[in-house]
Amino acid sequence: MSNIDALIHDLVSANRILAHEGIVDGFGHVSLRHPDDPGRFFLARARAPQNVVPEDILEFTLDGQCTKAGAPMSYIERYIHCAVFEARPDVKSVIHNHSKSLIPFGVTGNKLRPIMHDCATIGCEVPVWDCRTNFGDTDLLVRNMAMGRDLVKTLGSGTTALMRGHGCVIAERSLKRAVHTAIYMEHNAELQRHAMQMGGDITFLSPGEVAARFKLMDDLDNKPLAALDRAWEYWCQRAGVEYRPPV
Ligand code: MN
Repeated sequence: MSNIDALIHDLVSANRILAHEGIVDGFGHVSLRHPDDPGRFFLARARAPQNVVPEDILEFTLDGQCTKAGAPMSYIERYIHCAVFEARPDVKSVIHNHSKSLIPFGVTGNKLRPIMHDCATIGCEVPVWDCRTNFGDTDLLVRNMAMGRDLVKTLGSGTTALMRGHGCVIAERSLKRAVHTAIYMEHNAELQRHAMQMGGDITFLSPGEVAARFKLMDDLDNKPLAALDRAWEYWCQRAGVEYRPPV
């Protein structure tokens, strides 16, 4: 059996880190697949990530039902997490956010592409899902499995997708990788906008460079204070949460 308390500590930390780094605000959420039951995942009750504490973490099945009777209100858009976990056994953590710099790339036709080594895990080109294509005029929220599954078709086998006029989804192999990709996806959007303003052709990372960066992450994931965990310690310190080394 896994140490669920330790995982929930990390999930709460992820909520606080994403808030501190400006990736989420009153909205946005992060989930973690249950290590002992792939048909379940952990996600906070409907609360701003900055305020999430361990008692807020609930368990859901892949159809979006909370396993606890009489549970407090859940995020409406939990179906994003359900649909990704349903379609992608490789994914252990999902983030949905509306960070500001991403939005222009979902509405202008300018493709978000990796401009810097640490941003490579967004993939070679971030696809854009438009809910209007199949669902017409809505409030843009992913309110059911049909919308979630449609979004996941755009995500494909990748780590990221933009949602037109709304935000993005991140699907990663671990919680720390999801947080890393969410933070650097926002950085990439900001840097790419600066580069576009400077004019001229932008040299993006090549597919081979992107593949090499994914391999680096695979090699270093969850090793104490190696690259990703070093960043995790830094983010924990900034967000004022206790850093616990991987076990
Ligand atoms: Mn949203």
